[in-house]
Amino acid sequence: MAFEGLSEKLNNVFKKLKSRGKLTESDVKEAMREVRLALLEADVSYKVVKDFVKSVTERAVGEEVLASLTPAQQVIKIVNEELVSLMGNSNARINMASKPPTVIMMCGLQGSGKTTHAAKLAKLLKKEGHRPLLAACDIYRPAAINQLQVVGGKADVKVFEMGQTDPVVIAKKALSYAKDYGHDILIIDTAGRLHIDEALMDELVNIKKETQPDEIMLVVDAMTGQDAVNVAKAFDDAVGITGVLMSKLDSDTRGGAALSVLSVTGKPIKFVGMGEKLDDFEQFHPERMASRILG
Ligand code: GDP
Repeated sequence: MAFEGLSEKLNNVFKKLKSRGKLTESDVKEAMREVRLALLEADVSYKVVKDFVKSVTERAVGEEVLASLTPAQQVIKIVNEELVSLMGNSNARINMASKPPTVIMMCGLQGSGKTTHAAKLAKLLKKEGHRPLLAACDIYRPAAINQLQVVGGKADVKVFEMGQTDPVVIAKKALSYAKDYGHDILIIDTAGRLHIDEALMDELVNIKKETQPDEIMLVVDAMTGQDAVNVAKAFDDAVGITGVLMSKLDSDTRGGAALSVLSVTGKPIKFVGMGEKLDDFEQFHPERMASRILG
């Protein structure tokens, strides 16, 4: 499970604080040095850690906290609040079109979990009463179309495919199909590559131009740590994303990417993938995640 190491270290810091009773400014500062190390070891971006520790320290060394009856509790509360704010305060929802169909373009590097999550999202939206359509625009790996059909079948969601033709044409045709056949949501599974390259970005930009997505959801693999954040920044600069879906948070990842993405890109995490099955999928709740981290 993600965040195990971070949780343990933070809890040790807090245990020490609690055992002290009254706290001095230097107790808080020492604790913050340990929090800083724990966050860096969890692979949170350097600048994010720096700003985080600064905000917590500024709030925690105030008279109000130090002179309170339960100073350690107050410090923990501040850390909790700042963790929540790092991840976005509110629960970010999918951007829905004012006039259906809503177009969701899924993008990400190969292996990030894009195809799996296109189906997970379709299944969730179907459960909420929508009629999603999946479009197979990852045409470079022949197996990808088939994979989308398999997972789409499991989600009981129709998959629109045209084989290995121009993905921009497929996306456009899928949009007409969605309109003609009463699908209120179109989820486009785009191609991934092993590395970020211009051809991939150009293709995404062209699909974007033709379909005007309401949501451009980037799937990043939590296991790749800092790289996930760099990938998010690169996709946002080139294509302009509207949200992040973080996959594989069930794995033994240190979790730092989940804490860094919003600060670095300005784009919120909207969903998290917690396993290979279609139901291993949740909306991202910053408060719940912070509670999970603080144990
Ligand atoms: P794509 O190349 O981006 O379309 O990635 P896939 O959807 O094919 O996923 C790549 C691999 O990661 C597959 O073996 C998936 O079963 C696995 N996978 C995807 N999402 C998750 C997740 O949230 N947790 C775990 N443990 N595995 C995942």
